[in-house]
Amino acid sequence: MNDSLNAPTRVCVTGANGFIGAQIVKDLLEQGYRVRGTVRSTSDPKKSEHLTSLPGAGERLELVEAHLLETASFDAAVADCDFVIHTASPYVVDVEDPQRDLVDPALKGTLNVLESAAQVPSIKRIVLTSSMAAVSDEFPDRPLTEADWNEKSSLSRNPYYYSKMLAEKAAWEFMEQRKPSFDLVAINPLLVIGPSLSPGLNTSNESLLRLLNGGFPAIIDLTWGLVDVRDIARAHVLALETPKASGRYVCMAEALSIAEIVELLRSNGYADYKLPKLRLDNAFGNALIKLYSYTQPKGEGTYIRTQVGRVPIVDTTKIRTDLGLSFRDVRKSVLDAVEDMKEWGHV
Ligand code: NDP
Repeated sequence: MNDSLNAPTRVCVTGANGFIGAQIVKDLLEQGYRVRGTVRSTSDPKKSEHLTSLPGAGERLELVEAHLLETASFDAAVADCDFVIHTASPYVVDVEDPQRDLVDPALKGTLNVLESAAQVPSIKRIVLTSSMAAVSDEFPDRPLTEADWNEKSSLSRNPYYYSKMLAEKAAWEFMEQRKPSFDLVAINPLLVIGPSLSPGLNTSNESLLRLLNGGFPAIIDLTWGLVDVRDIARAHVLALETPKASGRYVCMAEALSIAEIVELLRSNGYADYKLPKLRLDNAFGNALIKLYSYTQPKGEGTYIRTQVGRVPIVDTTKIRTDLGLSFRDVRKSVLDAVEDMKEWGHV
């Protein structure tokens, strides 16, 4: 364990049951940290079995309840901690009420966590799981960097992106205005995929699943910027261990087109699944898909219109240099994710 910040090492991880949160808990336990994870309910121990059965959990993991929308809900969770990793936030594309279901929990939740942490002098750093959604909701013909901010999303256009942008912005404003004793580091990943510790199906892995189960009627001109969940967990832990870490860290390993992912799956034992065959990844297809997007639920529709025909380019120099993070091959991550979804019975 890196103790370069001379810290006793108790880390609070919010959203510990989640896809990314659980992987962070695993990484922290492997490094010897004490972990206090927050979950919405501790009443059913089965829901957290994937955490409590991790090596080291018996001695060094405790779980406490906390809710993003409740003031002071995180007080007990962050008490006596040295670091906080705040991952909890709703990650859903289509919701009934974007303000209630996305923006409120993301924004108020982040401020609640920061407010609770500001009462605890032992906390040295908060690592916030932000997103590339806070950086941009479309891909220009140039690399996106930490200097970019999503200025286009709204309650009606990519509201999940909007919620992440508002939450991260509010966190930086909190730091500016309140000047707490801790500092803040944000990790901004693109689409996170890979094996899941929990039985639930994450929104990002679900995208891969839809390619296998006929959810994509055709190969369309969509390119996903991918990064492995195990690398994202590493990034969070490195962010709290590296004294010079600061600001935001945009994060993507590699971008793969739908055509490339389909070919990868086809040539690795998934040819018998309902992979799309019809090629619509061309100018005609793009026009058709944009029309079709208006028949889709609103969140999905705006996502398609802003992403079709675009390729994510992300300059990851800062995270590789400052944190020394290296990315594993996302082709392997795709295959690991699919194999894992098969084992959990999703495929
Ligand atoms: P999950 O849905 O797996 O995890 C989200 C976590 O947030 C869950 O633990 C969930 O609790 C918790 N949560 C949601 N709403 C509330 C609430 N009202 N009160 C308390 N806890 C709540 O998603 P991910 O692991 O993928 O996402 C984790 C973080 O990473 C999010 O901030 C997301 O925006 C961000 N992110 C994810 C990416 C991805 O591709 N997966 C990419 C970039 C960023 P519960 O288990 O009870 O539902």
